[in-house]
Amino acid sequence: MAEETQKNMEKVLREQFGHNALRPGQDTVVVAVLEGKDTLAIMPTGGGKSLCYQLPALCLDGLTVVVSPLIALMKDQVDGLQSKGIQAGAVNSMQGVEEYRRVMQQLRSGELKILYVAPERFAQDGFMRQLMESRVALLAVDEAHCLSQWGHDFRPEYLRLGRVRERLGDPPVIALTATATEVVREDIVAALRMKEPAIIVSGFARPNLRFRISPCEGKREKLMRIRRTVAEWKKGIIYCSTRKNVMNVYTELKEMGVNAVAYHAGMTDEEREFSQNTFISGQADIVVATNAFGMGIDRPDVRFVIHYEIPGSVEAYYQEAGRAGRDGEEACCELLFNHADLKTQEFFYEGSNPPLSLVRSLYNLLVLLCGSSTSGEVQLSVDEMASRLGRDVNPMGVGTGLSILMHAGAISRSDIPGSKTKSTRVLTPNLPFASLEIDASALNEKAARDHRKIESITRYAYSSGCRQKWILDYFGEVGSKPCGQCDACLAAPPDDAHELSEAALNILRKALSGIARASGRNPDGTRRPIYGRSKIMDMLRGAKKATLNEHLRGLSTYGILADLTEQEMRALFRAMQDIGLIKSSGGNMPLLSLTDLGNRVMKGQEKNISMSTRGWVQEKKPSVSPRINGASRTFSAILSATQEKTELYKELAAVRMELSRQFHLPPYRIASNASLHALVNLRPTTIQGALRIKGFGSWSCEHVLPAFISVIQAHCEDD
Ligand code: ADP
Ligand code: ZN
Repeated sequence: MAEETQKNMEKVLREQFGHNALRPGQDTVVVAVLEGKDTLAIMPTGGGKSLCYQLPALCLDGLTVVVSPLIALMKDQVDGLQSKGIQAGAVNSMQGVEEYRRVMQQLRSGELKILYVAPERFAQDGFMRQLMESRVALLAVDEAHCLSQWGHDFRPEYLRLGRVRERLGDPPVIALTATATEVVREDIVAALRMKEPAIIVSGFARPNLRFRISPCEGKREKLMRIRRTVAEWKKGIIYCSTRKNVMNVYTELKEMGVNAVAYHAGMTDEEREFSQNTFISGQADIVVATNAFGMGIDRPDVRFVIHYEIPGSVEAYYQEAGRAGRDGEEACCELLFNHADLKTQEFFYEGSNPPLSLVRSLYNLLVLLCGSSTSGEVQLSVDEMASRLGRDVNPMGVGTGLSILMHAGAISRSDIPGSKTKSTRVLTPNLPFASLEIDASALNEKAARDHRKIESITRYAYSSGCRQKWILDYFGEVGSKPCGQCDACLAAPPDDAHELSEAALNILRKALSGIARASGRNPDGTRRPIYGRSKIMDMLRGAKKATLNEHLRGLSTYGILADLTEQEMRALFRAMQDIGLIKSSGGNMPLLSLTDLGNRVMKGQEKNISMSTRGWVQEKKPSVSPRINGASRTFSAILSATQEKTELYKELAAVRMELSRQFHLPPYRIASNASLHALVNLRPTTIQGALRIKGFGSWSCEHVLPAFISVIQAHCEDD
């Protein structure tokens, strides 16, 4: 983008919108739009989607037309813009004739910069003609998932937008949504006829959430995990797939003496409302619920979300898990995984994707029953229909079959006063099933998609890398790094190999010489391994154990690394093995020896060694040399370092709060508590140094880190 355009954009951002900077993701989107690209922006609610089209609207020459189905919110948006002195208007069914005329007048005169339009309005010729005479610089489609039949909120009027775009002279288009699976994305791109679109996913990371997948053998193990997590995190939500399990887990919690409530669709409205209120108001610590629980739940201090069973999709999982830690403080999201639980999801899958043969049998049954009833209606419950159709017919599949038939206009269903059962009437008794308007290929496609969703969440459950990164990769957010705090990251921390400092190289060479010396000699003079790993480690540490023989005690390397603790020694040996400096012979009593590479490093023939120093190079007294020099403090050191809230921590937290206000972002999006602790421990005085810490990226570099670093600098000077 030209420098001038950039400057102008920044000026508008400051002066008209009063924001200092764009958020990460927003910047990429705005640049793409200003460069005239078709753009699809996928951001979570609150991520700041409006600015993605409002800012370009003011920088471009001409009118920006914003399509939104949320008529009720249009007025607020327009009022907000007008109060900033921006020429904006809206056209929708909620306004009076007077107002409509006024907006159209503004449109004609070319004063308007931003016009909000409800999608059905494009069907009106008068309006469309007027719009076609205006110079439309950008078409923005908000809530773009409404374009997809597979989204949760399909709006047929949205399908016209591709044609609308054409009639408006093919302006660049930006589509925005918070939820978009692969399919929905494809639908949006196709329906809006986007050309080589820039697809930008951003803002989905939740740095304060610690994800965890706990493989569990069965119920007992699950309850044990729950017990632990509840003891550690106290307040939270436990999701179960079935009502039965909700009640089982609820009963267990009650027996443990935990203050819990239950929530599922089988309870009465009053019971559910009571549970919900009790939990939201904080009178209950835990709610055990099916996925019926959660719409609009925003108790901020939910400290954990446990999934007792694997849910049906990654999307559902992330949405439910995401109810933890809304306040930005640390929280835990744990999936209790047992492969057998997939049966429940398969059952749901079959229920929502019945075979066409079942729908046909259902239709024929209804035609038959209605034909023989005097009223032309049948009053059978879904369960009764299922049992008439066969012994193992899934009632949920029958329910779905009824919806398919209703959709095709073949039947109608109505309530019977005072009864839960509905009355069903066939509207097309003379039509054979084959003539009904049922789109079999669409149903097949939906079934295939639903199946892929289950496969995806199964892959997640079996994955081994960083949990957060896996999910962000799944959503298509590029450039995410391992989170450093999920169970996978903690078990196998990310590769952090780097060049060794002189001191580290020294330790390494001592260890290697020790391993070389702790060996026997073959008759031809070559060495052969005769000791195992722990004997050699004890020798290096100078342990006084009786297990160390004369030979080992007599070596010149005995006690040469007495400074290292046992744990550090283990970390060193692990790191040496990881990069192939040492090898084990295998078998019951594996013997340790150097590899060729190990030999060369020991002799100083190989100097450029890059390896992890995690766990074996540590600064023993951080208060003496608090500043980071290279990698002298390691990640595990940071994690295990004192978590007490020092003065510095408090100062940094105050700055975080300030930045949070400034950018209108929750504190955790500025920096997680773990990142603040890492800042306290590492005390980086340069941005470069701070970037070693997980959770800071290019956006932080510019907007967050300078403020933190100046606090740290001031602090170090005080010291
Ligand atoms: P969304 O439509 O994605 O849910 P909004 O566009 O309503 O989100 O923005 C959410 C909030 O974030 C608004 O209060 C908005 O003013 C604020 N916001 C958006 N972008 C920025 C920014 N770059 N700097 C500061 N605040 C911002
Ligand atoms: Zn991770």
